[in-house]
Amino acid sequence: MRVNPVTNPLATVRNLGILAHVDAGKTTVTERILYATGTTHKRGEVHDGTTVTDFDSQERDRGITIFAAAVSCTWAGHRINLIDTPGHVDFADEVERSLRVLDGAVAVFDAVAGVEPQSESVWRQADRHGVPRIAFVNKMDRAGAELDAAVASIRERLHPAPLPVQLPIGAEDGFTGVVDLLHMQALTWDDDGMAADPAPVPEALREEAARRRRLLEEAVAELHPGALEEFCDTGSLGTGTLAAALRDLTRSGDGVVVLCGSAYRNRGIEPLLDAVLAYLPSPLDVPPVRGTGDDREDGEQERPADPAAPLAALAFKVSATPTGRLTYLRLYSGTIEKGDTVWDATARRVERIGRILRVRADRHAQVDRAVAGDIVAVVGLKSARAGSTLCAPDAPLLLEPPGVPEPVVSVA
Ligand code: GDP
Repeated sequence: MRVNPVTNPLATVRNLGILAHVDAGKTTVTERILYATGTTHKRGEVHDGTTVTDFDSQERDRGITIFAAAVSCTWAGHRINLIDTPGHVDFADEVERSLRVLDGAVAVFDAVAGVEPQSESVWRQADRHGVPRIAFVNKMDRAGAELDAAVASIRERLHPAPLPVQLPIGAEDGFTGVVDLLHMQALTWDDDGMAADPAPVPEALREEAARRRRLLEEAVAELHPGALEEFCDTGSLGTGTLAAALRDLTRSGDGVVVLCGSAYRNRGIEPLLDAVLAYLPSPLDVPPVRGTGDDREDGEQERPADPAAPLAALAFKVSATPTGRLTYLRLYSGTIEKGDTVWDATARRVERIGRILRVRADRHAQVDRAVAGDIVAVVGLKSARAGSTLCAPDAPLLLEPPGVPEPVVSVA
């Protein structure tokens, strides 16, 4: 059965990961996303150990993001399930597992350092999993921050065509906003990180913004046949064509949309969220998940992202919390409800679904059911481990195990 992408609520879900080199600002970006979406009301700071995703004390102690926590938030009528992925190279397995359950990612770079070795290795892992990405050049407020240099390092070291869709307004300490090159408007933030209404592009930046819009159109036309056609016919690209082409290029991996900001100063987060909705795929836009029958003799099967199809879910993280043993699940197809009996195809035993929780930062909201495409935590599973497949007892399926990471060779 074909699922209608227009009416299906799954079209408004984004399973998103934030990928970064340690220290590029992944935790701060995550924190600011939760703040901007109203998920948290107090701004946590990394240095005092109060950030919401880093709620595990071991993690606080180490000051690096070790455990993947999935947090749900809403933006412009969409649900964003934010899956935290460890940036530290020692946790490659965990990165691998979280990449498996994402549909798209934001790669965060430091505006001074550009692409760093770990950003490169995580980028390659995401390539292997075919995870579409957009880039966020963070720390634009730092001395020595330079968007163009960071963009050049993306081109040289990661190889997709970088497609900057913003022009910074001000530099370093004076970085106050961006020109949105798609809509040709200025987006600025005050000292408290409050967004002003979109405004006309300042006179002094008009020529440079027009030049960069032209460069963006040319780069897109070169990569996208549909856009090239319009470009040849009219000599330019309309904003609608440009946006659609950027979405296609993001999903094919041929280009990477680049945005910038300063997470610390709360600048650039709202446009980043808009870009996540505009360019990154929903669970309906990604290929159906594949697996084999329980006894591995039934051949390969596909399961669509359809709540009415038999259940296929992957456990990608288990954590002991005061609420109990939480198993984070990515549902690929089917539906789960509290009390359901499911088959753990990995441990080959029956499991019962306990409470289903949507994790909202540091609290859990209980929900009655979860459907294909969603990410939730379930209480009460006994056998499931990270990597286990849960499926319908009468339609057994073993999902393909996550790929074994190849050794990463730096091209630096
Ligand atoms: P992670 O290791 O990638 O999770 O990075 P963190 O979010 O922990 O940030 C690393 C350090 O960079 C912290 O001290 C942050 O306060 C700082 N930081 C994060 N974002 C910015 C930013 O936009 N500008 C500046 N100047 N510092 C930032």
